[in-house]
This record gives sequence, C-alpha cells and structure tokens, in this order.
Amino acid sequence: MDFQNAIDSYLEKTGFPSFSPKAFLFDMDGVLYDSMPFHAKAWKEAFAHVGVAFSEYDVYLNEGRTGKTTVNEAFTAQLHREATDDEIQRIYADKAEIFMSISRTNPMPFAKEVLETLKKSGKKIVLVTGSGQKSLISKLNETYPGIFSPENMVTSFDVKYGKPHPEPYLMALQKAGVQPNEAVVVENAPLGVQAGVGANIFTIALNTGILRDEDLSSAGANVVLPSMEELYSNLSHLLEL
Ligand code: MG
Repeated sequence: MDFQNAIDSYLEKTGFPSFSPKAFLFDMDGVLYDSMPFHAKAWKEAFAHVGVAFSEYDVYLNEGRTGKTTVNEAFTAQLHREATDDEIQRIYADKAEIFMSISRTNPMPFAKEVLETLKKSGKKIVLVTGSGQKSLISKLNETYPGIFSPENMVTSFDVKYGKPHPEPYLMALQKAGVQPNEAVVVENAPLGVQAGVGANIFTIALNTGILRDEDLSSAGANVVLPSMEELYSNLSHLLEL
C-alpha cells in the first residue's frame, strides 16, 4: 500500500501544508471489535419479525445511524411511511435482545498490536463511538489493558449529533489537543468515514465486513485497507511522518 499518493491528495484537498499524525482516533464496532456480524444478524431478524426486509448489507451501509433513524429509513423505503414511536421502540428492543443473545466479545485481530505500537511510539489514542453501553470502559480495559480511560473516549453520551456529522471527531481532536492534520481516523463504516472526512482528518477505512471498497472510497476515505492486519503492516510508514 502506497500511502504517499493518498497523503498528497489529502493535502491538496484540505489545503494543509503538512501532515504529521500525533493522534489516532479509533471507531469501535467493526474496528476494535469484530461485532458487526452480530449487529447485522440482529437487525435483519428484528425487521423480519415485522415483515420488513432489511439485509445484512443494509445494516453495514447504515452503521452509525441511531436506532430510530435506522427503523425510519427502512420503513420509508419499503412501507412508504415513517414508523410510529411504538414501532421504533419495539423493533429496537427486539434487536437489542437478539443481539444480546447471539453476540460475543470478539477483539479485532491485530487491533491490540496496533494500539500497543502507537502507545509505545508516544501517539495519542482516542476512541470515537456512537455506542452508549454503560459497561463500555470495563470491556475495553479487559480487551485492551492500559489504553483507554474516560479522558480519551467520545461516546454517544458526549455528542449532540453523532456520525455522519463531524462533531464526534472534532471533539476527539479537542480531547487529544491536536489539529486535524495531526490526526488519523480509523473507521469501517461509510457514515463514520464521512464524519472523519468532514472533520478534515486523514481517514483510513478498514473494510472488515461485507461492504464493497467502493462504498468506503465514495464516502471519502483517503485509504481503504482490507483489515487491521494490513494497517499494522503499514503502521511504520505513518509513524515516520
Ligand atoms: Mg464501526
């Protein structure tokens, strides 16, 4: 993977004179945890229970939307009306229950190696997730000891808009105390990529799921890589900048 062309286009597009990453901003689902297959199955099944066809691919395309928006998108597309609040609540509760029953904590292969290498190199690390589980920090500390604390996390509790709005990544820049051209976003979803790019940050998309690379590059990703392992193999290049 040749990062130099991607960096040149990033600088040309943003007008920044230089790119020198000091902070790495990580999405969680589909990046630090291989959790998207469980979300996809759960959404598909919950929609099927109310007669709405919503494929696993649809779930990946919509990753990052709130439960309410996801249900309304599906209803509008297929039933040509928005869902009622009652329908939204029931479908989302059903999805959450299915997800709880099937999901396992699967760390993304090579995420630990990437995080530890960055930490050793003195880079700042910030988690930026639309998730709002209360147990998030203890789960993260179990999987990635010594990396995350509330000071370097932006969750659904912190933001008003959420992805694809740039707000969560702008907050992450503030937490890290860096400028947009001193950071790298690592995302797996088109809406997350839009948020990173909207904040003028160099955005690496990891295609860890069932999307086409085109879904991520058309969202504006500066680089699309097939896996966290591929990012790990290329990390030294980013650390030299
Ligand atoms: Mg994600």
